[in-house]
Amino acid sequence: MQLDTKGLTNFIDEEAIWKTVRATENPEAARVRGILDKAKEAKGLTLEETGCLLQVDDPELNEAVFETARTVKQTIYGNRMVLFAPLYITNECGNRCVYCGFKADNTELVRRTLTPEEIRQEVTVLENLGHKRLLLVYGEHPRFGADWIAETVRTVYDTVSEKSGEIRRVNINCAPLDVAGFRTLHEVGIGTYQCFQETYHTETYAALHPSGHKKHFLWRLYALHRAMEAGIDDVGMGALLGLYDHRFDILAMLTHAAELEKHFGVGPHTISFPRLEPALNADIAYNPPHPITNEQFKRLVAVLRLAVPYTGLILSTREGKTMRRELLDLGVSQLSAGSRTYPGAYADPNYDRPDVQQFCVGDNRSLEEVIQEIVHHGYIPSWCTACYRLGRTGEHFMELAKKGFIQEFCHPNSLLTFKEYLHDYAGNDTRAVGLPLVQREVDNFPAKRRDLVVSRLDRIEQGERDLYL
Ligand code: SAM
Ligand code: SF4
Repeated sequence: MQLDTKGLTNFIDEEAIWKTVRATENPEAARVRGILDKAKEAKGLTLEETGCLLQVDDPELNEAVFETARTVKQTIYGNRMVLFAPLYITNECGNRCVYCGFKADNTELVRRTLTPEEIRQEVTVLENLGHKRLLLVYGEHPRFGADWIAETVRTVYDTVSEKSGEIRRVNINCAPLDVAGFRTLHEVGIGTYQCFQETYHTETYAALHPSGHKKHFLWRLYALHRAMEAGIDDVGMGALLGLYDHRFDILAMLTHAAELEKHFGVGPHTISFPRLEPALNADIAYNPPHPITNEQFKRLVAVLRLAVPYTGLILSTREGKTMRRELLDLGVSQLSAGSRTYPGAYADPNYDRPDVQQFCVGDNRSLEEVIQEIVHHGYIPSWCTACYRLGRTGEHFMELAKKGFIQEFCHPNSLLTFKEYLHDYAGNDTRAVGLPLVQREVDNFPAKRRDLVVSRLDRIEQGERDLYL
């Protein structure tokens, strides 16, 4: 693959972003309250407004930011929470990202790439647990091009078990490809393509990515452009927090989002905000150069919810359970659960292998434990994949979302998928708390909608599967 960056320019104006960060330090209370009033309209925020909210220091104002984020989150997304699991396919990698356990010069890491049979074994374990949405994760190695990645996706989709069903949406987190490569992934039916820029600060980026394809900042910066050009409507961006000043990276990431919107009429489908976690032989991951406190982290998630109200916010199991619980209300819309971060981990009877994994997981609970907690918290777990299969993606999805579609369709669909889960996979304890939640939600629908949903729920009870509106 040729890494052609001819004619590409860095649309992140570092000086301008720093100027915005400095100009918005210590914002006045009246200014913050004015921005929060605007944020309630769910039309997004400018970079300047986002900079102000990121730098609120006063506890009372901070709580006002959280309260506004909770309201916007509840209005747009209601009480549903999409669940997924990552599936690591290979930890072989030719890059040397200094923070990652998979880096090429980590000679202590045991390398492993799953065979098709091993992929089937992992998928079967995940299906038996009730998963319907997976995020496939790959190191970047010259041996593994787009055709090989596409083949692994096909293997996942083809692993269908009579007892436990099938994976309905495969998202991908792999190194940037060229347009032809992305077209190959599009043709095999991937959902979202994710690529995190890690940091948008070029000098820091260069120091942390000393060799391999990933050292080419512009090649990575335009990865999502190429994916969209290839027809992949849903793309996900992210920044790895702890590498550089989070205020800079968040404003830069939002500039990236705006750039996509300008070119393609729609911004990213999702945003991720991983924090650095300890990883084998990666000192920087134990001592992040720009650590971000829990308070700053929570505020950042709340502010993202206000800045890009219709973009999905993804939270991984890098965070511990207490933080994850708090972030549910503040803005997160997708949650990974029961995650394991090395190839072959789900079928591994001796799970817990620091010598193979990418980084340490902060929330080790099983999928079912996470489900019980979020149900107690009043959330409906969702595995819905209707939009993607009905072509409601990209710009089309965003237009619908802005018209209240999430509450009208995603909410009932979450109930249908949760009902399937309760029927096919849940233990008695989960059923005992889940079924009353489904009933309560159904009771709250207006009569016409209620009849439609009840008839679908009945059909699930009779054995039909994969129903959606
Ligand atoms: N290899 C591909 C790449 O780098 O784009 C995709 C997979 S990589 C395993 C997925 C993401 O893991 C990276 O983009 C990075 O943000 C994150 N990551 C790497 N090391 C990490 C660490 N020590 N703690 C938390 N996240 C980490
Ligand atoms: Fe390889 Fe990705 Fe890890 Fe970098 S972050 S070393 S590219 S797996």
